[in-house]
Amino acid sequence: MALKIYNTASRQKEDFAPQNPPVVTMYNCGPTVYDFFHIGNARNFVVVDTVRRYLRHRGFQVRFAQNFTDIDDKIIRRASETGEAWDALAQRFIGEYFKAADALGIERADIHPRATDHIPQMITLAERLIARGSAYERGGDVYYRVRSFNGYGELSGRDINDLLEGARVEVGEQKDDPLDFALWKASKPGEPSWPSPWGPGRPGWHIECSAMCMSHLGETIDIHSGGSDLVFPHHENERAQSMGATGKPFVSYWLHNGFLTINTEKMSKSLGNFSTINEALEKFPAAAVRFYLLSAHYRHPLDYSLEALEEAQSAVGRLRDAVVTAEKLFGSRQADATPAASDEIAGIDTAFTKAMDDDFNTQKAIGVIFEAVSILNEKRQQLACATDGGGGAAAAMAAAGLIGLIRRMLGILGLDALIFTQADASESAKLADQLIGLLIRARTLARENKQFKISDFIRDELDAIGIRLQDHPSGTIWLRNESKE
Ligand SMILES: [Zn+2]
Repeated sequence: MALKIYNTASRQKEDFAPQNPPVVTMYNCGPTVYDFFHIGNARNFVVVDTVRRYLRHRGFQVRFAQNFTDIDDKIIRRASETGEAWDALAQRFIGEYFKAADALGIERADIHPRATDHIPQMITLAERLIARGSAYERGGDVYYRVRSFNGYGELSGRDINDLLEGARVEVGEQKDDPLDFALWKASKPGEPSWPSPWGPGRPGWHIECSAMCMSHLGETIDIHSGGSDLVFPHHENERAQSMGATGKPFVSYWLHNGFLTINTEKMSKSLGNFSTINEALEKFPAAAVRFYLLSAHYRHPLDYSLEALEEAQSAVGRLRDAVVTAEKLFGSRQADATPAASDEIAGIDTAFTKAMDDDFNTQKAIGVIFEAVSILNEKRQQLACATDGGGGAAAAMAAAGLIGLIRRMLGILGLDALIFTQADASESAKLADQLIGLLIRARTLARENKQFKISDFIRDELDAIGIRLQDHPSGTIWLRNESKE
């Protein structure tokens, strides 16, 4: 079975064949860091993280870069609104990106290049393009000469003559052709700038990604991804710049995820303004948000609504209940040791791989997981009905194998840790808090009844396990003892 990936450039599914297997080079356009990221961006990050996990599961060694656009008009504008330094603002939202991404189980990239760390590479790239006649300088700006590149428009399927109709020359621009776009912009007074052969200025957005991508992953990479809103002009221009400079292919597979559609009427009514990922994560567990983002095929539109997230939350709850109950009944650890021998388990495994091999169809893959869960529930009932001996033991073996498989499949989708480990950790913390509160009330009760032996016993035993009690006029609080290491 071959893994197939839909390539935006060819508009069809293609067999996946990286240049240097088992290595796969992969670049995703990261956030412009001027605000919390939107739930639509979260879809891109989660989809790409899942693709990366699946490629790894299929035996590839993925070298993955995702940039931060930390210099941009939006950043400069927002900083002047808030009175914050532009670079401090960018730094703050890089931190916010990692917080939310970590919460969603999005693994850190191998490299997170920042645009402002790659200004020399961008200047070099612009110089190469000028040397080849693909770019020119006008009044401190550098422009890409679109007509110098024959393949312009191929990625997005646009005709250069149609593009000309919508093209404009903005005030202050000195382009030779309205189609041309800026590689380098002379800086206006008060704006951040870097020295260049053309005077102080800053890079255009498109050249940032070309330079970061090629300097970390090479001149031809395997997969370049992003939201479908980036196909034109961002990726079209990235492709033109990179191929214009190197004369080599830039990307083998262009992968773009679909839009998140929002019914605006519904949004104002029931969603309030929770369109940033942080607002979604305040209302829903991360597992539910990630599950929801993977519940449709990545290329299809996904409708964003409170109901959809609630549905995802209840689906995750059913999944979790089924697995946790079965683990308690059948034992979880034995699951790893049980070879996936039965035809039933092999069949599920194959169906999951088939779904994911078909252009990462997570919607189908999730369906396969739920089929496995319903089989698991059947085994549980068989066990409940089985009298001692043979039937019960066989059901228990099969169930243990199934549990292991379900958790492996969830792991490939990045859901296992979110559903089990993290939820368990926060539940355990809550439970511990409640139990200590209960002991404090029992101690207070003992003291009120002058049963000091009991109250001292509770205090000392808590201290022995690292919990220190402090009595205040308003009541007793508990603190963790300082670590003794
Ligand atoms: Zn980009």
